[in-house]
Amino acid sequence: MILLDSSLNLEPFRQIDQVISGEGFIAPPSSAYIQRLQAALSEPVPLTLLIADRLRQLKGKHVSLFTGFVVPKLYPRGENDGPLGTLALARTLKRCGLIPTIWVDPPLLENAMWLAAELGVELDIHSIDLDLLGQVTPPATALAIEKPGRNAQGVMHTFDGIAIDGGSIPIDDLFMQWQTAGTLTIGIGDRGNEVGFGNLAKTVAQLLPVSATCRCGCGGGVVSVTPSQLFLPAAVSNWGAYGIAAALAILERDGRLLYLPDEEERLLHVAAVRGCVDGVRRQSGFGVDGLGGRVSIAIVQELRTIAQTALQ
Ligand SMILES: [Zn+2]
Repeated sequence: MILLDSSLNLEPFRQIDQVISGEGFIAPPSSAYIQRLQAALSEPVPLTLLIADRLRQLKGKHVSLFTGFVVPKLYPRGENDGPLGTLALARTLKRCGLIPTIWVDPPLLENAMWLAAELGVELDIHSIDLDLLGQVTPPATALAIEKPGRNAQGVMHTFDGIAIDGGSIPIDDLFMQWQTAGTLTIGIGDRGNEVGFGNLAKTVAQLLPVSATCRCGCGGGVVSVTPSQLFLPAAVSNWGAYGIAAALAILERDGRLLYLPDEEERLLHVAAVRGCVDGVRRQSGFGVDGLGGRVSIAIVQELRTIAQTALQ
């Protein structure tokens, strides 16, 4: 269901997909991996355009955003990848006229509220409660942003093969239940172990043979088999969410929908002092997924430049 105007210039959206792959900002093999994943989805238009266009058709409707990558001992208060993108995109969706509700793993609840306060936006934020969620009216759309997904054995893993037990609450069954009920499901992920990667499980297996093994003995490897109707691979999941916000700003011709570089800087600091960790370095600090904070700020700056140029 693409309602796009045939005169729409696709170039800014191609640039957004490219920026969120990290090309020019991170190690070339890493951005090439993300670009191969993006291409393997074989969508007819750039992915950020496709997703933003579906979202803007849901004004006045409810959107549930899920995030939280919590592993006991390793990331007891969660990763900083996921929450920042979720809050930034939720603000954009709210300004766009949708009704967002954010659901986070319980240890992240306060952190998410601190981040929303720093972003200057009032958002409805809750702890994930599967009993409650199983009873609510399914939303028009649900997004999983850097949310661990189960492998074929039903086990969630870190990217390097550690089983997640007693941390993040699995939302895989809820997503499939809602999808059956008519909810548009959307995933954003960066490695292969997140909800939505079911769309690309074979591709990840081919490109990243190491993903076939894990360290927990389940034998299922780290790749999530949970699909989503739309999926966005990005070098850092936060960047994927920022890319969708930039695409919405262009489509809606509204610069207020953009997330800003100084906001990224402030939120990275807040996440660090609140104990959210860099998932690769496994400690709090000014950076995400092993990349310095300046890299993320540069990505946000580049997305803003693309959108502002398109809006001129
Ligand atoms: Zn395993």
